[in-house]
Amino acid sequence: MNIVLLGPPGSGKGTLAADLIRLYNFEYVSTGDIFRHNIREKTPLGLNASEYIHAGQLVPDHVTIAMIADHLKQPRTGSGILFDGFPRTVVQAEALDRMLMQMQTELHMVINLVVSKETVVERLSNRRLCVDCGRGYNLVSLPSKVPDICDQCGGDLIQRADDRPETIRTRLEHYRDSTKPLIAYYQEKAILTSIDNEGSIEAYTQRAADAIAKAQRMGKWRP
Ligand code: AMP
Repeated sequence: MNIVLLGPPGSGKGTLAADLIRLYNFEYVSTGDIFRHNIREKTPLGLNASEYIHAGQLVPDHVTIAMIADHLKQPRTGSGILFDGFPRTVVQAEALDRMLMQMQTELHMVINLVVSKETVVERLSNRRLCVDCGRGYNLVSLPSKVPDICDQCGGDLIQRADDRPETIRTRLEHYRDSTKPLIAYYQEKAILTSIDNEGSIEAYTQRAADAIAKAQRMGKWRP
């Protein structure tokens, strides 16, 4: 089953994705993670993308689409693909439809995460990231065992440069102008389900799992 997680920055896409991968063995494709990996490794793609990302801008469509097309050439590793942070524009969504068609598959479901503005600001300001392995934490809902140290690799935890208040504002504007129109795009294709992504991680993972089970019952996914 191929799924897109849609929602504003701070809506909990990465946190929900980690639980869904554990439950369903999806292959995880996060454009933000791939960009950050390339920035850490100082690749040409990373150098190109970093100025956009640090300014809270979207990386241009042709760069992002080429990166995903390249990624999708690798052998598939899970029970389906869980896309986090891609697509973010209608041009990207159309490109994704074409790429999946070439792979003789399709997008089965889009989970739209609904959260209040207050929750977005609260989650982004408490978000921390490991400088070495890129694992995400939240000071309140998902703290590391030892403060400021990654549970997985022992690296230092930092606040993402693009989680500063002024950059958050820019990212939310891009979400409103470029990404929110995808709600209508996928509603028209009748594959969009909105879930309330407030409250505890357990509660919203359960709501997403219920939505996936319903999509499976409705035959949206044939293994
Ligand atoms: P994320 O980790 O998903 O919040 O992404 C971090 C940043 O990477 C975004 O604010 C954008 O600058 C960039 N980015 C991630 N995914 C995309 C995308 N699909 N299109 C354009 N830029 C993206």
